Amino acid sequence: MPDDLENQILDLPFKGVNVRQDIISGQFVNKDKLKEFLRTVQLCDLVKLSKSIRDQIYGNHITYSRKVFINLVNLCKDSCSYCTYKKEPNEFGAVMLRPSQAIAIAEAGKRAGCTEALIVTGERPETKYIEAKKWMNDLGFASLTELISDLSEKILVKTGLLPHTNAGSLVKKEMSMLKSTNVSLGMMLENASERLLERGQVHANASSKIPKVRLKSIISAGELKIPITTGLLIGIGETFEEVIDSLILIKDLNTKYGHIQEVIIQNFLPKMGTQMEYSRSPSFSYFLRCLSSARIILGDISIQVPPNLSPRIYSKYLHAGINDWGGISPITPDFVNPECPWPTITEIANTTYKNGHILRARLPIYPKYIIDQNLNRNFVHPDLKGYIEHLVDNYGLVKEEHIKHEY
Ligand code: SF4
Repeated sequence: MPDDLENQILDLPFKGVNVRQDIISGQFVNKDKLKEFLRTVQLCDLVKLSKSIRDQIYGNHITYSRKVFINLVNLCKDSCSYCTYKKEPNEFGAVMLRPSQAIAIAEAGKRAGCTEALIVTGERPETKYIEAKKWMNDLGFASLTELISDLSEKILVKTGLLPHTNAGSLVKKEMSMLKSTNVSLGMMLENASERLLERGQVHANASSKIPKVRLKSIISAGELKIPITTGLLIGIGETFEEVIDSLILIKDLNTKYGHIQEVIIQNFLPKMGTQMEYSRSPSFSYFLRCLSSARIILGDISIQVPPNLSPRIYSKYLHAGINDWGGISPITPDFVNPECPWPTITEIANTTYKNGHILRARLPIYPKYIIDQNLNRNFVHPDLKGYIEHLVDNYGLVKEEHIKHEY
């Protein structure tokens, strides 16, 4: 932590519980003390502290990744109580793309100045649905990971867009198959609480959401030195303490492996037709407390909140310590939240600017893994270096010449 930030933290008013040294060291030896502080400190002081930490680490740059969302297959073996992404094989909206369709989307993205190809699937659809297995086998693949690996390579070669796959809780062997074609991988932890698997809770019918399974995937990515994006879904029946426990676990794993590039703090939105249709979204103050706590615990790990899930108020998250808006697509919908269109990149740039920051485009691999020689050597597969270096400036951010402005 920079010296001036240390001094700033030492100067801040801490009422009641004093956790200054824990925050400065990033090692939360007394977790109960930290929880008490984060739960009881005035929200305005918490927000001020998280903003100070963000300002010191990220300056006035706020980033986003210009992407296409390739919804490869949206069948899924699990059922989470809040999800409308998952479809049944004969349901309207069910998708099993041919590689040529996926590549056509990436090519359209290239024309629109995108640099990320986000490839998303449901959780192991081929293990539940004969239709998904047949689709995969007919395309000539024995496993979904083989298919994604082949598709990722084609996208890279034909378009130069950098693949970032979120196919749920992959095992180590599957992740290693993707390392040479995917600059990073994604998988939401959601929450580390086993309680959310109990009968009546959100993950009762989602064995892939067993926290141990998800944490094992995150550990595997660390052992393989693959940068990973994870995140928490806030407002799904968890307690504030469970949010803090989850954040500390993420922080500890990053301290050990250095591979958690980004944490998404996502607000739950009730969706029609789901079991949680009548549940409430998290209150603004609770969400802000979780978000500020995330910055205080995670330190220099990137924190993003999706702007399309809070269209009228997303600028307020800039004051609570975020440094990134996540992937934004100028041409494809957010297939996980299709009812929430992304604001245009111009609107996000203007909102960011009005709040004192400059919007910069980043790749789906964060700058530190590109410009830090040590991280670059360890976390970037040699086959990907040329594609990455072609796109970035000295800060590891996307060169202006690759960006297509909408103004
Ligand atoms: S695992 Fe993912 S795709 Fe499947 S039901 Fe849960 S949230 Fe939806």
